[in-house]
Amino acid sequence: MFSSFGGGMHPPEHKSATKDLKFINLAIPHSCYLSLQQHAGAPAKPVVSKGDTISEGQRIGIAQGFVSAHVHSSIPGKVADVADILTIYGTRQAVIVETEGAFTASAHPSQPVDWESLAGGEITERINDAGIVDLGGAAFPTLVKLSPSAEKRIDTLIINGTEWEPYLTTDDMLMKTYPDAVIEGCRITMKALGVASAIIGVEDNKRDSYKALSKSLAAMNPPENISIKKLKTKYPQGAEKQLISSLLRREFPSGSLPGDTGGIVQNVGTVYAIREAVVFGRPLIMRHITVSGGAIARPGNYKVRIGMRISDIVDECGGFKRQPAKIVMGGPMCGISVHSMDIPVVKGTSGVLFLTGEEVSFRDYSPCIRCGKCVTVCPVGLLPCDLGNAVEKERLDIAAGLNPFDCIMCGSCSYVCPAKRPLSHFFKIAQEKIQVVRE
Ligand code: SF4
Ligand code: SF4
Repeated sequence: MFSSFGGGMHPPEHKSATKDLKFINLAIPHSCYLSLQQHAGAPAKPVVSKGDTISEGQRIGIAQGFVSAHVHSSIPGKVADVADILTIYGTRQAVIVETEGAFTASAHPSQPVDWESLAGGEITERINDAGIVDLGGAAFPTLVKLSPSAEKRIDTLIINGTEWEPYLTTDDMLMKTYPDAVIEGCRITMKALGVASAIIGVEDNKRDSYKALSKSLAAMNPPENISIKKLKTKYPQGAEKQLISSLLRREFPSGSLPGDTGGIVQNVGTVYAIREAVVFGRPLIMRHITVSGGAIARPGNYKVRIGMRISDIVDECGGFKRQPAKIVMGGPMCGISVHSMDIPVVKGTSGVLFLTGEEVSFRDYSPCIRCGKCVTVCPVGLLPCDLGNAVEKERLDIAAGLNPFDCIMCGSCSYVCPAKRPLSHFFKIAQEKIQVVRE
C-alpha cells in the first residue's frame, strides 16, 4: 500500500511525450526579460540602469524586505532598458538585457565549497544571496520557508518529488539524472533547517526516479535520517498539506498552515538549486522546464535561461505543428493561461504547454445539478458546490462561513464538474473579496 490522502482524482497524465527525454540546453536568446517580481512577496528593487554593462549572474535587483528575493542576470550583456513588461503576474518592472560578452559564470564555475563545514546560518545566507525561491510553482522565497518561528517545532523536511500536474516531467527527469545532487541538496537543506529527519516522496508512476534515488541514497549512506517513500499517483498529491498528510499522517485543522504540523516541504528542483548555490556559489539564473502539448513540434525537457520569452522557446523547439488553442505556463490544473508570446520564463516556471483545441475545453458552464462529485474529490473537505453557488449569488456572508481560505486552488472540483462550473475561479474571487472586507 502506498501512502495517500483523502479525496483527489486521476486526470489523464499526458506525460508520455516527454517523460523519457533527457535535458537539452536551449540556445542563449538574444535578449532576456528579467522581471523584478519572480517570487511571492515584494518585488526586488533594480540596482542597474539603462546602458550598464553587466556580467552573467550579476545581481540586478535587490530583495525588498524579508518576503522577497534577489534577482540576477541570466546572461552577460548591456542593459537595454529598465521598464514595465507583461509577466505571468501582470505588468511588472523588469531589466531587459541584450546578450554581449563572455559567459564567465557558467564557463568557469567556482571551486566547490565544503558545505558540511558551514553553520546553518551561513547556508541560509548563501541561499538568500542566490535568490532561491520555491521552484515547484508557488515561488515562495526559500529563505522564509527555512526560517520558521520557534513555536512551529519543525521536525521533518519533506522533499516533494511527486510532480503531480499532468504533462510536466522535469522533476522526474531531474531525479533520474541527478539523484546524488538531489540527496545532497536535501542534506544541505536539513542542516539549514536544523532537522534530523527527511522524507523524499515520489509518486508510484515515477519508478525510475524512485530506483535512482534509492540506489544513490544507499551508496552515499549519509549520517542523517533520510528515507524515500512511494506515494499513490493521485492529484493533488504534491500540494503541501496533502503531502504532509500522506507522509506524516498528520491532520490539518481548518485555517492551519503546512508548517503548523511540524513538516516543511521543498520541491526537488529547489533542493537541486540550493546545492548549486551553497556548494558552487551559483545564483538562480537557469532552470529546467518541460515544453509540451499537442501544438509544439519538439516537446521535451529543457534547461533554459530565466528571462527567455515564450516566442524564443517556440523557435528553439521547432515552431508549431498546429496552432495552439491555449498556452499555459505551469501545469494545466494550477498553471496560468497566457495570451502573449512575449511573456518570459520566471523562476517559478515549471513548464510551458501549447495545447490544441482537443486538449482543452471551452464549454460554457451551467447551473449546479447537485451531483456531489466536487465534494467527493475535494482534498480539504470543502463543499465546493455550496461555496460556488454562494459566490455566484454574491452572498459573501454565506461563502465566508464555508471556509473558503482552506481551498488550495487545486482545480479538482472544476475538473470533475459535469456542469463545467469554474469553481476554483469563483473561490479565488471569494478569497480576494472577503480579504478586502476583513481589512
Ligand atoms: S479547488 Fe478548492 S474547493 Fe476545489 S477541490 Fe481544490 S481545494 Fe477543494
Ligand atoms: S460537481 Fe458541479 S454540478 Fe456537481 S454538485 Fe459540484 S458544482 Fe454541482
